[in-house]
Amino acid sequence: MTVHFPFQNSYSALPDSFFARVAPTPVAAPRLIKLNRPLAVQLGLDPDLLETPEGAAILAGKTVPEGADPIAMAYAGHQFGHFVPQLGDGRAILLGEVIDREGVRRDIQLKGSGPTPFSRRGDGRAALGPVLREYIVSEAMFALGIPTTRSLAAVVTGEHVIRETALPGAVLTRIASSHIRVGTFQFFAARGNTEAIRALADHVIARHYPELREVERPYHALLAAVVARQADLVACWLLVGFIHGVMNTDNSSISGETIDYGPCAFMDAYNPAQVFSSIDEMGRYAYANQPRIALWNLTRLAECLLPLFADEQEKAVAEAQDILGAFSDQFSAAYQAGLRRKVGLFTERDGDEALIQDLLDAMAKNQADFTLTFRKLGDAAADDGTDVRAQFMEPAAFDEWAGRWRARIALEPQSAAERQAAMHAVNPLFIPRNHRVEAVIQAAVNDDDYAPFEELVKVLARPFENQPEYAAYADPPLPDQRVLQTFCGT
Ligand code: AMP
Ligand code: MG
Repeated sequence: MTVHFPFQNSYSALPDSFFARVAPTPVAAPRLIKLNRPLAVQLGLDPDLLETPEGAAILAGKTVPEGADPIAMAYAGHQFGHFVPQLGDGRAILLGEVIDREGVRRDIQLKGSGPTPFSRRGDGRAALGPVLREYIVSEAMFALGIPTTRSLAAVVTGEHVIRETALPGAVLTRIASSHIRVGTFQFFAARGNTEAIRALADHVIARHYPELREVERPYHALLAAVVARQADLVACWLLVGFIHGVMNTDNSSISGETIDYGPCAFMDAYNPAQVFSSIDEMGRYAYANQPRIALWNLTRLAECLLPLFADEQEKAVAEAQDILGAFSDQFSAAYQAGLRRKVGLFTERDGDEALIQDLLDAMAKNQADFTLTFRKLGDAAADDGTDVRAQFMEPAAFDEWAGRWRARIALEPQSAAERQAAMHAVNPLFIPRNHRVEAVIQAAVNDDDYAPFEELVKVLARPFENQPEYAAYADPPLPDQRVLQTFCGT
């Protein structure tokens, strides 16, 4: 039996300027270390066959499956605010698209599968550590209910990649509803190619926003739709303490999925200024900056779409500004609604926003763990709040706030058990804590031991459930376990 991929490719039918046709470069000795079996099934693939040596060869880019049309996509991007007119898939190759069981078109992309015409000075490869990090964190985001690219498989290549040292090479199979980025539009805008922008916009509307095909001004509506999805996405990130780390426009997806898990991290103690990425020296992509940066990226997208808006530049700009102006309210609405759910409020009243902000301020001042404070606050809906108090350096800071919170929730009819259940459904107990991710990577890279990786992935698949046998995974790092910096590892 051979592995059958039911490809139905659409991106590779776009004009030649959109991509470069290039096959993956075969690797020495592919070995499958992880297959996401439920995701394989969802994609209409046979997980048993993918686990055979032939399947591993495909997932490592050693064999190209029938029906694939391998391409590297062209894109540009602002990196840390500086425009680079040509980036593109330098180490990723899109094998093709399949329609999944829910009828959604999904890209199947190999990341780390060898050089492409966009590789510049890079080797086109990925090291095992970053591949495992992306697998863990993207699947954790999915389990948290946050729009994201997914991870179908990780293979080691049997070859080394040279970074600061020689590291085991690996390939990640990434699944996305598309890999079209703000930077994809920028690639054509930088070349003054309005026809390509129109073709790309039409492709995006058909693929991600089909309801817009019939509206009066589809390109305006497209911008508005992307603004709305990005506003929701960034609110989701903030509500779980996620820091993307490298929100360049080439890492900003048009579909509104989280994409590109490089130096990303979840914070432990709540700190709005938190930065983990070693290359983010100015804190451009700090936790609390993320909404601002998302809007900045969307503004770059709007600039690309101006030629489709109106012939008159001034009119087009005014229309774009009008649409971008919705971001702030949309983000705030999603964020505040999420915060209300996190503190167990079923209704909205004057003063709620200030009450919640006071909690966040106290958390920041007291280095309270972001995840555990909210999780234990859910328990406090039904008990005396001992566990949540313990998250605060000065527990009295919590007591003062808790009095006001208890008075506020007493105005609602829900029982303690109902409130606790509702809070536990939105406040995860398990997140991919940096020190855990680091430990898993060390075991795999240094000892070829994947048992810790398997266990972490398993725990993170059920982030909202108490899993008493894995309770330690909920713990913040001890002082000597703290990870202060994360790296792209490219
Ligand atoms: P990233 O930091 O992963 O968003 O990548 C930014 C750009 O650098 C993209 O164009 C990547 O394709 C390219 N790139 C990153 N790592 C490599 C590599 N090892 N070889 C070739 N290109 C790379
Ligand atoms: Mg990228």
